[in-house]
Amino acid sequence: MHCPFCRHPDSRVVDSREADDGVAIRRRRACPSCGKRFTTVETASLTVLKRSGATEPFSRAKVVSGVRKACSGRPVDEDALARLAQQVEETVRASGCAEIAVHDVGLAILAPLRELDDVAYLRFASVYRGFEDVAAFEAEIAELRAHQALLAASAGSAGSASAAGAAAGTAAVPRYGGAHDPAPPPVHATSAP
Ligand SMILES: [Zn+2]
Repeated sequence: MHCPFCRHPDSRVVDSREADDGVAIRRRRACPSCGKRFTTVETASLTVLKRSGATEPFSRAKVVSGVRKACSGRPVDEDALARLAQQVEETVRASGCAEIAVHDVGLAILAPLRELDDVAYLRFASVYRGFEDVAAFEAEIAELRAHQALLAASAGSAGSASAAGAAAGTAAVPRYGGAHDPAPPPVHATSAP
C-alpha cells in the first residue's frame, strides 16, 4: 500500500502480529523510498445493515457512543465502555456473518451492558425494546433482580470470590445465562444453506 508520508506506491512489511485476540492483524511497514515506518491494521470486513437499507462498516466507536448516553451520570468509565464495545464486536463476529443488521448489534449490547450497570441497562433496553408502560419496566426490573440474585448465589457458592471480583465480572459469570437473556444475534439461521 501507499506510503502515507511520500505516497510511494509500495511498502515493506517488517513485523506482523495478531491484535485484539486475533480479530485484527497489525503490520509494521517501512517505506523503501523515504524510510519512514507506519502501521496498518487489517480486520475482516464487517458491515452493519441500517434500517434505511444503507450499510456502513461496523464501528466500536458507534457502539460506545450509543451506550454512553445510557451511562450518563453512572459510574461507568471509558475503559469499561471500550471493553463492552470489544465484547459486542466479538459476539457479532462470532455469528460468522460478514453483514449484520443494526438490530442485532443492539441485541449484542444488552447482555454485557446488564453486567456493567443495571440503570444504564434499563435505560438502553427501554429505548431499544420500546418499553411502552410502567409494567414493562417492572417486568424488566423483576428479571434483573432475579438475574442479580442468581449471580450473588453463584458468587457465594464460589466461596473465595470477593465482592469486588463479582462486580468486575469474573470469568465464572455466564454471559448468556438466564431464560430471558437476549441470545447472540440469531443470524445463523439465515446463513445456513
Ligand atoms: Zn515514503
